Amino acid sequence: MRSSYKLIFERSREGRRAYDMPELDVPCACGTIPEGMRAVSRLDLPELGEVDLVRHYTNLSRRNFGVDNGFYPLGSCTMKYNPKINEELAAMFNSVHPRLDADMAQGCLRLMKDTEDMLCEICGMDAFTLQPAAGAHGELAGLMHIRAYHEHRGDTARTTIIVPDAAHGTNPASAVMAGFKVKEIKSAPDGGVDLDALRAAVGSDTAGLMLTNPSTLGLFERNIKKIAEIVHNAGGLLYYDGANLNAIMGIVRPGDMGFDVMHINLHKTFSTPHGGGGPGSGPVGVKSHLMPFMPVPVLKEDEDGMIVPDYDRPESIGKVKSLYGNFGVIVKAYCYIRSLGGRGLKEASENAVLNANYIMHRLRGAYGIPHDRTCMHECVVTPGELVDYGVHTSDIAKALIDRGYHPPTIYFPLIVHEAMMIEPTETESRETLDEFVDAMLDIAKVAKTDPGAIHAAPVTTPVGRPDEVAAARKPIVKYW
Ligand SMILES: *Cc1c(COP(=O)(O)O)cnc(C)c1O
Repeated sequence: MRSSYKLIFERSREGRRAYDMPELDVPCACGTIPEGMRAVSRLDLPELGEVDLVRHYTNLSRRNFGVDNGFYPLGSCTMKYNPKINEELAAMFNSVHPRLDADMAQGCLRLMKDTEDMLCEICGMDAFTLQPAAGAHGELAGLMHIRAYHEHRGDTARTTIIVPDAAHGTNPASAVMAGFKVKEIKSAPDGGVDLDALRAAVGSDTAGLMLTNPSTLGLFERNIKKIAEIVHNAGGLLYYDGANLNAIMGIVRPGDMGFDVMHINLHKTFSTPHGGGGPGSGPVGVKSHLMPFMPVPVLKEDEDGMIVPDYDRPESIGKVKSLYGNFGVIVKAYCYIRSLGGRGLKEASENAVLNANYIMHRLRGAYGIPHDRTCMHECVVTPGELVDYGVHTSDIAKALIDRGYHPPTIYFPLIVHEAMMIEPTETESRETLDEFVDAMLDIAKVAKTDPGAIHAAPVTTPVGRPDEVAAARKPIVKYW
């Protein structure tokens, strides 16, 4: 720990106060608190003057890194700028209670129904549920549809989900949680699904295939129609992990590619800040043959034009979330989609893809590019020849911190050795991209002439380089 980063407890001096409570001017009621529930000693709270308190918290807040204070190219996470107006619009609904009767909450229900319809249009699906609270939760709910579909047909031998090795890590985990066995297939040399391996993997036990597209390599799957055909011919269903929708909005639709069920991440693509563990939303879209299994309630429009929550659905997989889902996130997505419109969404995706290709192009030569073809919204690069100077991906990530950037996703995807996964998003200007690339090129130059300087990074943070192995094996979780 570097000096000048003292804890608030270390700054504490007995008797200092930021605020004094007024003298008690009513009879003390302490005697009414049962003996066993009374405090027996003073609480060990820090004591500070107001200015020291303000400085403490202000400085802490400035040590937080977010999209609002810097470039955040964390691959697979779509850390794009989210317009502030959508926060304000969502806050307008703060006083609506989720247990209001449907006839008192028609505005909210209509907003959700319209959001479902717009997502159907964007993705080419027949119906959406907004209930799942995150991408991985959507995967679980979507896979439960696949299970219910086979079970209702009496086809109980379909117990396996096929997952390519370029899938997001949540895919195999969700399949196991939904009660399936997982069969992993290797990628072909071009980064796509190996069709021969897929043909060999499908059979009468195949419940379905989960495909992350664009994959974690940032690549669009070229053989998507053939993949759909192979899986459907074997009697399986197709699950589309659409968390990377930011690359394809308004350009292609998973429904048109033959997929039966999918999820998207509203908190990545549709204007909700994320990364701090805040509320997310992973809506699930299905084709008509899976609609009977959707979680309750399903929003229906009755003949008077009223939106009513329908709980009477005997084949439903049940409830996956209390009430309707994370409504505030849904409001932000609704506002974002309505304000950009179809053309705006398409332009957003086009710029996201352009920005990633621009970065990849400018890094070519200085860094390794394992799959050197047009990428989608993110690119995967490696240190290339810098490893000959003893400089690895984690060193580059730490050197970026000193230069004012959040590092890209590192050592993921697992199938690329020393991977750095860079996702700039559409909201970054060309100047920002250039400054980031210049920092990367500078790191590459210093790595060759003075690798020790890269190994010393970061030098601008309260904690430099903890011993990562010791920190994992023998964590000290107390400060003193
Ligand atoms: C982020 C992501 C997920 C998981 O979403 P969470 O909301 O973090 O659960 C799944 N698949 C892909 C491709 C992702 O990028």
